[in-house]
Amino acid sequence: LSVASRLDLSRARDVLHEVFGYTDFRPGQDEIVAAVLEGRDVLAVMPTGAGKSMCYQLPAIVRENLTVVVSPLIALMRNQVAQLRANGVAAGALNSSAEPDEVRETLADLRTGRLRLLYIAPERLARPETQDMLARAGVGTIAVDEAHCISQWGHDFRPEYRDIGAFAERLGQPQILALTATADEATREEIRERLFVRQPTVFVHGFDRPNIRIAIRPKANPKRQLTDFLDSHRGESGVVYCSSRKQTEELADAFSGAGFHALAYHAGLEAAERSRRQDVFLQEDGVVMVATVAFGMGIDKPDVRFVAHASLPKSIEAYYQEIGRAGRDGLPADTLTLYGTDDILLRRRQIDESEASEEQKRIERQRLNGLVALAEAPRCRRQVLLSYFGEDKSPACGNCDVCVDGIETFDGTIPAQKALSAMVRTDQRFGEVHLIAVLTGETTDQVVRFGHDKLKTFGCGTEFTKVQWRAIFRQILAAGLADVDMANHGRWILTEDGVAVMKGQRSVTFRRDVVEARTEKRGRRA
Ligand code: ADP
Ligand code: ZN
Repeated sequence: LSVASRLDLSRARDVLHEVFGYTDFRPGQDEIVAAVLEGRDVLAVMPTGAGKSMCYQLPAIVRENLTVVVSPLIALMRNQVAQLRANGVAAGALNSSAEPDEVRETLADLRTGRLRLLYIAPERLARPETQDMLARAGVGTIAVDEAHCISQWGHDFRPEYRDIGAFAERLGQPQILALTATADEATREEIRERLFVRQPTVFVHGFDRPNIRIAIRPKANPKRQLTDFLDSHRGESGVVYCSSRKQTEELADAFSGAGFHALAYHAGLEAAERSRRQDVFLQEDGVVMVATVAFGMGIDKPDVRFVAHASLPKSIEAYYQEIGRAGRDGLPADTLTLYGTDDILLRRRQIDESEASEEQKRIERQRLNGLVALAEAPRCRRQVLLSYFGEDKSPACGNCDVCVDGIETFDGTIPAQKALSAMVRTDQRFGEVHLIAVLTGETTDQVVRFGHDKLKTFGCGTEFTKVQWRAIFRQILAAGLADVDMANHGRWILTEDGVAVMKGQRSVTFRRDVVEARTEKRGRRA
């Protein structure tokens, strides 16, 4: 940091005390504020509630310039403006629900250059007269809240968000600060492309919830596994997530039979009954909610002590969000996720059969693969999870099943080399199905059409079944030896680490249970 920005940062800290009454920065806030004060373009990724707003509010106050905050959430604008004004900061909002008096005052403050923070809905920003007005006022920084709304493939896509980049250009490229809680790499890439002209400095912070114990186990006897898990949490409140309404009813019955106060919860229940059950969960101790994902949104119960998944969640983001409902009070909380091949196939089918575009389906598959990779990685769960969200370099956590129980592994260098060389010899242009056909020596139409039955790698991997190869491919992904290019038919491309493995400069370790579990299964069927 330069001397000037160090000074600015210490002034930002003063503002944090004096204006907002907080004792210190939250993790990550100081770094982001420092970068903003240095004038850099920034993309900041932090979970909801981590304190993203402060990252643009403090610099706006310290530098005494105008920051335009683009936000789709009118309620949020209203709260923040009220809070800022109560603290003596000149702030205002322009959106469809602002009072005329308030708007007049905001516009007057804007003209006199007194206004520090202007919250604006993207629809309003799209209007030429708004843009002219802001060009006259002079904008120092554009803060884009909920920046993932720019992503066409996300659930919150806002077409008007696409215009923010062009708007910034008209204003002569002021500083841009984008904030989001959606950390997924595909979304981040889209934000970078659509919003920034200069490469932004990226910060990812606050995804670790160290008090939550993580365990992910293959499904053997799910009722038994879950009852054992609940047994170790008698008298505590928790949630068991299920993939269907029927499953919630069945498991709730089974748990009740085992002496737990268990309630099923799903969207098929009468609204009155749903809210009654929700109240029981919130108000009584030791209730087990056996629920579909319909349960949990906006439910703020700090002392949820455990979360279990009776089957694999929909994606790695959903997993993180759902286990994140445990231990909000910061005290130890426990989670257990069960998964089986059938779950993975069910989730795949749900994606395939959805109304989404091909492009979006590819991205959804990638998000599912991220979760499968997490389930199968031979490394600390938390390290894998955090690195998915972009927080690298965290140490092994000591609070996940892999860290605690250890795991049996084998040297996977040779199978990995075979898979990687299948990718290379097909010019890294093909997806998993084709690559596995090449490895197992299957003469599909596509294999023949491309002449891949003539390759040296053709049929070099018959020691594994197709199902086992799929497990190995997931292990390759989990180990970071290759990436799947979602934008191009899910083709597999080697990473630098993958190249090193192929050249024999590096070895790689796979989980034995994951690959072998499937051998057994096949053996039984045959
Ligand atoms: P986000 O936008 O990341 O979801 P907010 O910016 O709304 O989160 O902040 C969540 C809450 O945390 C707000 O009530 C905010 O005032 C508070 N907060 C932010 N920074 C700090 C801090 N350094 N110390 C204490 N509380 C903070
Ligand atoms: Zn761990």
